[in-house]
Amino acid sequence: MGEATLHAFRLHENLYFIGTEAVSVHLLDTEAGLVLIDTGYPVMRETILENIRALGFAPESITAILHSHAHVDHFGSTREFVALSGAATYMSRVDDEIFNGPTDLTWAKELGLRVIPPFHSDVLVEDGDEFTFGKTHVRCLLTPGHTAGTLSFFITLPDGTVAAMLGGAGFNTMSTPFLSAYGLPATCREDFRRSLRRLSAERCELVLGNHPGQTNTLGKMWKAEEGKDVRDADEWGCFLTSLERGLDKLIERDPIPAT
Ligand SMILES: [Zn+2]
Repeated sequence: MGEATLHAFRLHENLYFIGTEAVSVHLLDTEAGLVLIDTGYPVMRETILENIRALGFAPESITAILHSHAHVDHFGSTREFVALSGAATYMSRVDDEIFNGPTDLTWAKELGLRVIPPFHSDVLVEDGDEFTFGKTHVRCLLTPGHTAGTLSFFITLPDGTVAAMLGGAGFNTMSTPFLSAYGLPATCREDFRRSLRRLSAERCELVLGNHPGQTNTLGKMWKAEEGKDVRDADEWGCFLTSLERGLDKLIERDPIPAT
């Protein structure tokens, strides 16, 4: 068995985990430069940079930053990485509008963090948009629930392996205290269920979590360090099913009050 602590490692082919135990950040090493998926909390910036360098890459070579959704733990270091590399930023059009809208829904206040000034992403992603970075292909699906504009990614690696990430799995934003505090519609819960079912129809051989605890990233690290294959064709379905069960439990213990 490998080291107990989660650290940067290669998941498969040109796909790497470079986040921390708190939040996932992923890196794709492509012929079109380095592609990042999310950038963690602001405080994670130096760790992420160290991780990129430790794997033998140059942070200045980041050419694209994809965001799963507009919460502070996923875009917290984006401004600094863009300043360093000139990378183009990607976010769903829906979450970009919310991020730049009148109400701060980035979860910074709830976590006691400073609010980051909003920015517009260079590429406003719509449902079904596809992007090619060298021999790596990324298909984006709009999967509302955790936020209205959460993006899920299906990444086809050069060897044909499809890695996928549900862009937001937390129930925190679907709780009645949060929804009522901001006057948000409770329909997000059924949106989330529809998103899970839509995703379950898709092929995935390697599940990426946008928080490592959601998809046993530590276990994948141990496997990878033993030289084993981290791919598992059954994991995606099990992961999505367990989330739908979690949604049922949320609805049971925290019902939407009748109006
Ligand atoms: Zn979130």
